[in-house]
Amino acid sequence: MEPAELAWRDGVPESTRFGDVYFSRDNGLAETRHVFIDQNHLPDRFAGLAPGQPFVIAETGFGTGLNFLAAWAEWLRHRPANDPGTLHFVSVERYPLTHRDLKKALSYWPELQSQAEELLAQYPPLIQGVHRLVLAGGRVRLTLYFGDVLEAWDELEFHADAWFLDGFAPSLNPDMWLTDAITRIRAHSKPGTTLATFTAVGRIRRALAEAGFAMQKVPGFGRKREMLTGQLPPAGHEQAEKTGAIAIIGAGIAGTLLARNLAERGRQVHLIDQGDAPGNAASGNPQGALYVKLGVEYNAQTELAATALSFSQRFYQPWQGQFWHPTGLLQLAATEQEADRQRRFLARNQYPAEVLTPVSSLQASELAGLPVEHSGLWFPRSGWLEPAKACENLAVHPGITRHTGFQVTGIHQESGQWRLTNNSGQELRATTLVIAAGHQSAELLDATGELRLKSIRGQISGLPAEDFNLPQTVICGTRYLNPAMGPRAVTGATFDLRNDNPEETLESHQENLDELVNLLPSIRKESLPDPQSLAGRVAFRCASHDYLPVADVFTDDTGKDIDRLFLFTGLGSKGLAWAPLLAEYLADRLTNQPASLPHRLSKRLSSARLYRK
Ligand code: SAM
Repeated sequence: MEPAELAWRDGVPESTRFGDVYFSRDNGLAETRHVFIDQNHLPDRFAGLAPGQPFVIAETGFGTGLNFLAAWAEWLRHRPANDPGTLHFVSVERYPLTHRDLKKALSYWPELQSQAEELLAQYPPLIQGVHRLVLAGGRVRLTLYFGDVLEAWDELEFHADAWFLDGFAPSLNPDMWLTDAITRIRAHSKPGTTLATFTAVGRIRRALAEAGFAMQKVPGFGRKREMLTGQLPPAGHEQAEKTGAIAIIGAGIAGTLLARNLAERGRQVHLIDQGDAPGNAASGNPQGALYVKLGVEYNAQTELAATALSFSQRFYQPWQGQFWHPTGLLQLAATEQEADRQRRFLARNQYPAEVLTPVSSLQASELAGLPVEHSGLWFPRSGWLEPAKACENLAVHPGITRHTGFQVTGIHQESGQWRLTNNSGQELRATTLVIAAGHQSAELLDATGELRLKSIRGQISGLPAEDFNLPQTVICGTRYLNPAMGPRAVTGATFDLRNDNPEETLESHQENLDELVNLLPSIRKESLPDPQSLAGRVAFRCASHDYLPVADVFTDDTGKDIDRLFLFTGLGSKGLAWAPLLAEYLADRLTNQPASLPHRLSKRLSSARLYRK
């Protein structure tokens, strides 16, 4: 993204590109409160919401985020601290401020300091597309689109309760105020939606009125005599949101993240697993790397992976010291083929340094704390997780009822409810059902062999820390290796197609060891331990034919979407990176809240694509 070009006069940022100020020279915060907060009647509307009810504000022009922070502060003022309702703020920005400029601009508002600090800590890399920020423990969600306003409204899925139209003066920035943009604003509005804007230009008033808003001129802020407000006709009767219980089959990283997300949004969740604790299958390893492979081409697949990676890094931040260890990660160019791929990748793409930087073998050695023979890519914000512990921690919430040792053998749809049964005669009922059962998902859907999902055996090996020189960062190449966790470091995993052996094998340990020593000869101390002495673990990942996950309503083999049945699987060996964003996206859909992914990307996650054509 091209960042904003700013000039600072008396501490107020001005865009040199547009020749206009970001906020009033008189008092930007007072202007925001008058124009956007009060004229949309937000204090009263927030106070009058039912428990758990979300509210959606959409804005044209994120700029310094002042309007956003002011709305956030207002939300906290009027909503009870334990209310699960979320304030959604959807905003678009074509020329985002750099982190440094944002920090400077927001230092102006001491009363918004705590919000500003949180925003700055989570501010996404300047990469085109959609970034979802979950703030204030989930009480506030920002969907920030970096790109042009028309694209944003074409790609995003949401319906607003209130609009902040704040895109510089129409004379200086006509693009923001095109009739096409106004038509889209209308399309993204709920019945009864209100809008406010600082401008009182006649052309804008007429265009908004034409789109269906009842427009009014009201006194402006400070020296501005007038501004505009508008409202759409309210609905006759609003359809109540379906709020029944949600059952999730599978308590791996996907299922537990989704359960937690929904519970935090006030939903009642049944988290079901045949095992005796969450995270006992593919998500049960003691260590796992937070890792994606970014493609040479910046296509939809790469954008999805990059978005998921940066979301997961933000998401795990609060869990640092518990199950998240952001040590950084090196992706080594360990083979000639990978070296060539990385060269082409670097020639085509310019990622912000906070996402990744190329490093020489010398730099890689310094970062890893041991000699490394290959150059590579350095992901400073990645690291490793304790996946089993993550699942266990995430599954603890008053809104989640855990049903461990419950092996679902029957799924029935009866009078608008799902009824799940097991062989011990127990049953569970829920309005919505999500299948997040990894490689066993197809079987549960009675679609074995129909869906292009495969199971891939992976065996990890635990290396005794005393026998090896271990790195201080995660290393990925033909194998991955984590820094030591206590007396051991996990390496792996094998990638065994068409192998359903659930037992550890000597052969797999030997393979892990050989590959690792080949990748990083310097880890070897003296003699290598006997592979027979290594402790490991076998699990089965689930991957789709195109190696993209599935996070969607379930479509049956006739092409029909099954109402309130969802599939969340196919995360392959990148589940730790995919799951936080996809759980957020599915929770958005299940609760009918603004989507954290644009349609262009979410359609890649469809279940319909799993059928052979
Ligand atoms: N609401 C902001 C705040 O609270 O700081 C101030 C917004 S400023 C007046 C207008 C913003 O619109 C600028 O940041 C500008 O880069 C952005 N912008 C201008 N044209 C745009 C376009 N076509 N698409 C998206 N954003 C645009």
